[in-house]
Amino acid sequence: MRDLQILLRQHIGAPCKALVRAGDRVKKGTRIAEPTGLGANIFASMYGTVTKVTEEAVFIHPDEEQEEAFEPIPEGSKLEMVKAAGVVGMGGAGFPTGVKLGCDLNGGYILINAAECEPGLVHNIRQLEQGCEKVIRGVRYCMEISNAAKAIFAIKKKNEKAVEVLREALKEEPSMSIHLLPDIYPMGEERAVVRECLGIELEPDKLPSAAQAIVINVETISRVAEAIEERKPCFSKNLTVVGKLNGGTQPHVFMDVPVGTAVEDLIERAGGIDGVYGEIIMGGPFTGKATTLEAPITKTTGGIIVTIDLPDLHGAKVGLLVCACGGDEARMRDICAKMNGVVTSVARCKQAAEMKNGALKCERPGNCPGQAKNNLQFKKDGCEYIIIGNCSDCSNTVMGSAPKMKLKVFHQTDHVMRTIGHPLYRHLRVSKQVEQLPEYSR
Ligand code: SF4
Repeated sequence: MRDLQILLRQHIGAPCKALVRAGDRVKKGTRIAEPTGLGANIFASMYGTVTKVTEEAVFIHPDEEQEEAFEPIPEGSKLEMVKAAGVVGMGGAGFPTGVKLGCDLNGGYILINAAECEPGLVHNIRQLEQGCEKVIRGVRYCMEISNAAKAIFAIKKKNEKAVEVLREALKEEPSMSIHLLPDIYPMGEERAVVRECLGIELEPDKLPSAAQAIVINVETISRVAEAIEERKPCFSKNLTVVGKLNGGTQPHVFMDVPVGTAVEDLIERAGGIDGVYGEIIMGGPFTGKATTLEAPITKTTGGIIVTIDLPDLHGAKVGLLVCACGGDEARMRDICAKMNGVVTSVARCKQAAEMKNGALKCERPGNCPGQAKNNLQFKKDGCEYIIIGNCSDCSNTVMGSAPKMKLKVFHQTDHVMRTIGHPLYRHLRVSKQVEQLPEYSR
């Protein structure tokens, strides 16, 4: 096994400060870095010896023999233990959970984000199917810490088995309920969860606390329970490996992978890459980024996806339609370059509002304002192709005008969807009957 590479920045906020030096022996659970501002403690994920410390990471050579036991965090109040354990939003956001839970909801809501919105990723749903008791205990702790009176599991209706398991488990939990979400991207967006569960539309710059709510991901909640019940530091990650792999394209779920494990090690555990491939993506098809075999997984890594080759556009002019819910402009330029296209025009959805930190947030997730104006711009700029990263509803509106203007559409997730046999994001058909699920068609 190659050395673990444990990044000093695995959360929103500044990088942590390393507390170890080359040559130091570490146990599983040894605190190896501490926050310098907003952030969370970072721990060794295996027994071993520190080989190198850089500005970005601590490298650890793992021992041949590994014990199950770990170095526990100090005892304290429940909130202190969540903070000490370095728990962060493990759905990808990376916001320190101890800070999030530190607010007084004054009888409000814990909203459990079980949308698992990125297509292809299944580890959160698998966790509910196989270990929902720990998640429910974690919800109780979150409610107690933040003074919430109710909790709602937000989960897509298509996950029938997990919904059934939850229904059964919540029979004795009068303060907890389930809200079924449609299978539309981005239902897992924080404000979309608030809107769906509570009927409150938050402005892009508002946090769920403005609706007396905290939105928290399934795995994050189970790490809260581990911190409080087992005094366990947050040093491992659940994730899905999927794509062009030997043995087929079905997803492989890995629970409790040591943080710092190389992408290549996990791909090998999933069967290895099947021949020629296009990209390796860390994260989901919409919001993930291209990565390398050497890159390490962090507390926020949700998926590793190996894709088929990308098409060759032979130098064609390409327009990029940047959306708040898909890849950023840099990611779309990266895809365009890999397809041998030339970026000739860039447009941003008018509902993609830029926040103070430069990030884009959708003003009304899942409700598209129409994209005909942007398509006209692409046409005027001489584009033959457009690359889009829009959500379900917005891809639908792009398709309302692009083909008529003879613009060929490539969604940034196309090569992933083709790899895993998922319908492409193009036309959305939502049934008028609430009880029926929406479908996509090619
Ligand atoms: S409305 Fe605009 S910003 Fe929001 S999801 Fe759709 S395309 Fe993206």
